[in-house]
Amino acid sequence: MKSADIRQAFLNFFEQHGHTQVPSSSLVPDNDPTLLFTNAGMVPFKDVFLGRDPRPYVRATSAQRCVRAGGKHNDLDNVGYTARHHTLFEMLGNFSFGDYFKRDAIHYAWQFLTENLGLPAEKLWVTVHVSDDEAADIWLNDVGVSAERFSRLDEDNFWQMGDTGPCGPSSEIFFDHGPDVFGGPPGSPDEDGDRYIEIWNLVFMQYDRDAQGNMTPLPRPSIDTGMGLERIAAVMQGVHSNYEIDLFKRLLASAAEIAGQQDIHQPSLRVIADHIRSCAFLIVDGVIPSNEGRGYVLRRIIRRAVRHGHKLGVREPFFHRLVAALDEEMGEAYPELHARREQIEKVLLREEEQFARTLDNGMRLLDEALAGLEGNELDGETIFKLYDTYGFPYDLTADIARERNIALDEAGFQRELEAQRERARAASQFGARLEADIDLEGATEFVGRERLTSSAQVLTLLND
Ligand code: ATP
Ligand code: MG
Ligand code: MG
Ligand code: MG
Repeated sequence: MKSADIRQAFLNFFEQHGHTQVPSSSLVPDNDPTLLFTNAGMVPFKDVFLGRDPRPYVRATSAQRCVRAGGKHNDLDNVGYTARHHTLFEMLGNFSFGDYFKRDAIHYAWQFLTENLGLPAEKLWVTVHVSDDEAADIWLNDVGVSAERFSRLDEDNFWQMGDTGPCGPSSEIFFDHGPDVFGGPPGSPDEDGDRYIEIWNLVFMQYDRDAQGNMTPLPRPSIDTGMGLERIAAVMQGVHSNYEIDLFKRLLASAAEIAGQQDIHQPSLRVIADHIRSCAFLIVDGVIPSNEGRGYVLRRIIRRAVRHGHKLGVREPFFHRLVAALDEEMGEAYPELHARREQIEKVLLREEEQFARTLDNGMRLLDEALAGLEGNELDGETIFKLYDTYGFPYDLTADIARERNIALDEAGFQRELEAQRERARAASQFGARLEADIDLEGATEFVGRERLTSSAQVLTLLND
């Protein structure tokens, strides 16, 4: 079953059960300044759950593009290391706004998986929150899930979008990819492997948490579910990694060709194929690389992709060339991607060229530092220098160090950063004397040495 067919089957199933189809919203939430990106299907409905945004329906279904590369849900560091995490993925969801609750939500999910998709019950594992007797009873006595494949967990089964907002206990459904894959069942010490993969999360929204941590019961308990399209596609296509599904084939082939690689299973190619999706869609949704907020997350993802290209020996700008393959793969489902293709390419190319000026030298500095290392921790000064002079975001250095089993002195890095801020604060009080007094290198965050020319520019940067 192709990904596009799974997406359609899901939306049709819930439409047949009285849900209104709602198109994917932007990755930049328009209803929540505290949230970096849309990181779940429920985000566009947040105010509907809270009773503040009345809609003409009480049941909805959507395929929502999501980014998890910053904030509360951040999977950037997982990409390239697990078979199941992406920076951008599509979340299939069904929602009840004070209409049906646990029983129907559980039955719908089970019916869709076992009847519509035809998955064998013996392959599915279920978890609920330790406190949730009601959900446990439905699964064990109503649906008839075997107690051997059922468990009660704590934190993993309490869902929250952010530090505040709607939340509640959840129930998760896992698929067992079989003994060829490493990993243990949910709740076991090896659960982080890729054998038992969480495919669907059913959230029973019962509370609204405020900034002080108080949980107020919602006016009407609601349902929010999310199933990762790429994960269920892997199951349906009989592969054990999301990177082997149809959606990624063309991207990986294109990345391999551009990078002159034969083996398409290399982690670096997977990282690149993953990152082009999030970067392109973030640009589609109006994010531009910059030094702060959303733009800085985008910049970090682009630089991580470019560094992986560099690792494969690519020395020319290449990342923007993948937009063509992405457009072929997803342009039909997302016309806005197709329409803005050239603009995306331009933004990426500009960013690649800028980083190219410092990447090579930064890598050399880092390689030397790592080669000369006595323990297995890279010092804060070097991390800071890479960040400040060569434009290496912290997590980029961490990604490289991790490949070589080296840890980073994060506290040391933070101290250097704070010292620089102090210098900047002091310097900005001296206006005209600025250029003479401060270490210019210290002010050229992220970009490299050559950028700052006038004191006006320096001031703008420091006052940001
Ligand atoms: P995991 O424990 O595997 O990190 P999660 O519990 O953080 O997943 P949820 O917040 O419950 O994920 O999101 C709902 C569903 O979205 C998951 O069951 C999974 O199918 C999918 N999903 C979550 N994160 C990712 C990701 N980074 N890439 C691809 N799919 C994801
Ligand atoms: Mg997660
Ligand atoms: Mg989970
Ligand atoms: Mg989950």
